[in-house]
Amino acid sequence: MSHHHPTVIIGAGLGGLALALGLARAGREVHVYEQARELGEVGAGISLSPNAVKALRYLGLGDAIRAQADEPPIQITRHFETGEVLVLIDRKHTEEKLGAPYLQMHRADLHQLLTDAYLELKPEGITLAAELTNITEEDDTYHLDFSNGDQCSTDLLIGADGLKSTVRRMVFTEDDAEFTGYVAWRGLIPTADVAELDLQAGSSVFISPGRICVRYPVRQGAIQNVVAFSKADDWAAEGWSQTGKLSTLQTLFSDFHPEVNTVLGAFKGTDIHKWGLFARQPLQQWIKTNAAVLGDAAHPMLPWFGQGAATALEDAIIMSRCLIEFEDTQAALEHYQDGRLERVTKVHLESHRGGDTLMGQDPYALAKNPLRTEDTLGLTMYDPATVAL
Ligand SMILES: Cc1cc2nc3c(=O)[nH]c(=O)nc-3n(C[C@H](O)[C@H](O)[C@H](O)COP(=O)(O)OP(=O)(O)OC[C@H]3O[C@@H](n4cnc5c(N)ncnc54)[C@H](O)[C@@H]3O)c2cc1C
Repeated sequence: MSHHHPTVIIGAGLGGLALALGLARAGREVHVYEQARELGEVGAGISLSPNAVKALRYLGLGDAIRAQADEPPIQITRHFETGEVLVLIDRKHTEEKLGAPYLQMHRADLHQLLTDAYLELKPEGITLAAELTNITEEDDTYHLDFSNGDQCSTDLLIGADGLKSTVRRMVFTEDDAEFTGYVAWRGLIPTADVAELDLQAGSSVFISPGRICVRYPVRQGAIQNVVAFSKADDWAAEGWSQTGKLSTLQTLFSDFHPEVNTVLGAFKGTDIHKWGLFARQPLQQWIKTNAAVLGDAAHPMLPWFGQGAATALEDAIIMSRCLIEFEDTQAALEHYQDGRLERVTKVHLESHRGGDTLMGQDPYALAKNPLRTEDTLGLTMYDPATVAL
């Protein structure tokens, strides 16, 4: 079937849906194409720093997020073996200091909130099982082909199609994603399964050189989100995410504190997914005539600052505001790029540097030389809803 849509967004991830919702709320015509057969998100938690919460408030989701998310009072970083406290971040007064709270929630819940809000305004606004396979450009109009046989043309193409973005590759650059040498093991366990541990509220991080284990509660404390990072020389070619063996993970972290080993042991009998962490160099140009990229398609970054989705949401809000405020599409895209490039390139490069320092450091050195983080760099004060365009 062939369509003409004024604005086409490729990808119904957090960034694409946020942009679709921002435009739909302003009464703009928009359509989303998503390759997956069903909408959803990986079983994992997500940290929403205040800048991300402000983006979600702009979309009218502030109360809904607050009702579902957990608000960690504290983040404690400990020595991997002894459990000694190395760094303690008090998050209790975040809202007073930064204008929005620091929240944590199940990724699927956040994705569902964005999907429901968008589909309420545009019930036919997403085509599923539609992988973008080809793009041709003619007189500043993009003609798109999809795996399900659909075709469409658009005067504004937005690539929100993530790390392996087809829009980035076909409209912007052919650069390869590079394996960064880090692997993330992610999963969720019921808190009741580790009832013998008196787990504190908030985030807990155990660090050793080359390995980190992060845990925080989601769904009002009913579930624990667990992410373990380790190093690897290479990543097997069969995909960017795989199901990992629990025994391998347990061996890798066997010298960690008993709390970590008990938590990992609770995965017994369930799948634990592992991701090779890939990244690209920052793009110098995010816009072309009538086309742009946002989120991981523009700036896939390492997760050390928890800013990948946060910056995708910021991009979406700034792009929405620019398209609403500037009648001329190209002027809107130029304001979007001008508003985003410098900030996000900084977050991108700092988060890579931060990870290398964190993973390479003697844990005790961390206590003496606090890292440059999203908090200390002031990155989370940013408000995409009010910043000047
Ligand atoms: C271990 C780990 C932990 C993380 N933790 C956090 C955190 O706590 N906080 C945070 O802010 N960020 C975090 N991130 C980063 C965050 O997950 C990403 O930055 C974010 O999901 C990017 O959103 P996006 O919408 O740009 O892309 P994606 O979420 O990747 O969405 C892209 C969408 O496009 C679709 N798509 C792709 N290609 C096509 C195509 N050709 N045609 C049609 N559809 C297509 C995909 O199916 C997908 O639905 C973490 C990342 C990792 C790896």
